[in-house]
Amino acid sequence: MLKRSAVSARHLEPSVKLSARGVTRLQARHPWVYRSDIVGTNDIPPGAPVRVHDQRGKFLGTALYSSSSQIAIRMISHGSVADLPALVAERIRAAIAYRKDLVSNTDAYRVVFSEADFLPGLIVDRYNDVISLQILTQAMDAAPVREAVVQTLKEEFQPSGIVERVEARIRELEQLPALESGLLYGDKSSTEVRMNGVRFHYDGLEGQKTGAFLDQRENYAAAAQYAHGEALDAFCYQGGFALHLAEKCPSVIGVDSSRPALEMADKNAALNGRELEWMEGNAFDLLREYAASGRHYDTVVLDPPAFAKSKRDLEKALGGYKELNLRALKMLGPGGILVTCSCSFHVGAQEFLKVVAAAAQDAHKSVRVIESRGAAKDHPVLLNVPETSYLNCLIMSVSN
Ligand code: SAH
Repeated sequence: MLKRSAVSARHLEPSVKLSARGVTRLQARHPWVYRSDIVGTNDIPPGAPVRVHDQRGKFLGTALYSSSSQIAIRMISHGSVADLPALVAERIRAAIAYRKDLVSNTDAYRVVFSEADFLPGLIVDRYNDVISLQILTQAMDAAPVREAVVQTLKEEFQPSGIVERVEARIRELEQLPALESGLLYGDKSSTEVRMNGVRFHYDGLEGQKTGAFLDQRENYAAAAQYAHGEALDAFCYQGGFALHLAEKCPSVIGVDSSRPALEMADKNAALNGRELEWMEGNAFDLLREYAASGRHYDTVVLDPPAFAKSKRDLEKALGGYKELNLRALKMLGPGGILVTCSCSFHVGAQEFLKVVAAAAQDAHKSVRVIESRGAAKDHPVLLNVPETSYLNCLIMSVSN
């Protein structure tokens, strides 16, 4: 009798069966399986951990299920998972340990980067004594998982505050109830951080992304290494590149279309005892105007928002990158430095290099690549998961 009920209980555990294509994907070490590759399920509550099998019933591991996303499951383990909150806590501690030797000269960095840290749907950033987290999936939104996340972060960092940043659109897509951004623990949501010796204000409940573009942190320092003369930081946001350039350049101007971002940039400049010029406007128009009127700069940074949000936008995105780089190269003379970035996942490293090469050709300039860079090391690139590699940053020297 006892045995029978044990068997039937096991049978009731949520499980999925994958098509051959789904199995191939997992074997290639990609954690996502699309709904179209799921050929059988039993009753699965939204966000539940599920046992994954091939069509012949062979056990492949455990995944987190979403009832709404096209990415129906994201693998979390190649074995069984008895206690998901405990596994999440263990993975957070592993992510912290992984960064011990990789991250230096900063108190602001990404602590957990979703799939790249084997925690699909969870992003955690540390800003000095304030921790900011984002929950992107049904599984990570479950109360016991949330509790484990907050508890682990409290133990590991003893922060003054833990804030949750909510992207309404993501919760809608995951069919999760609406939620406001806010404090999950403690009483502090803003603080001050220091990256490469440069100081920044951080407000966990304002700004874009989780408040700063931490993925560019190492690129700020690299750009500053080569920067000189008169500098222009186009798409400057709160002054990440501009303030680093100011360490080397006697004059720096930052351009952005967002007024609140520039107000924060100005406060950041004051925090570092510097005076920079900020200009609110459309960087495309401004670069066109400047290039046409024969303006000259010694250093230009281009860090636009992702132009290609999907494959469909690719052609248009490439056109945008080409135009920006062409204008910038026109303004740079011999010895000039161009730091040019793309954070569009759909624009690969080779494609980006090609588009900048086409811009150099049109600008009649010979250009040397000093460094070809990606995101900072606290944003790991997981081999076999191309989606974790999205940021390209080229640092180049214009010869003639
Ligand atoms: N370099 C910044 C991040 C830039 S993110 C950093 O390291 O922190 C992209 C920025 O481009 C955002 O601040 C956004 O407000 C701005 N932006 C978007 N479209 C723009 C446009 N057409 N002209 C100028 N700025 C724009």
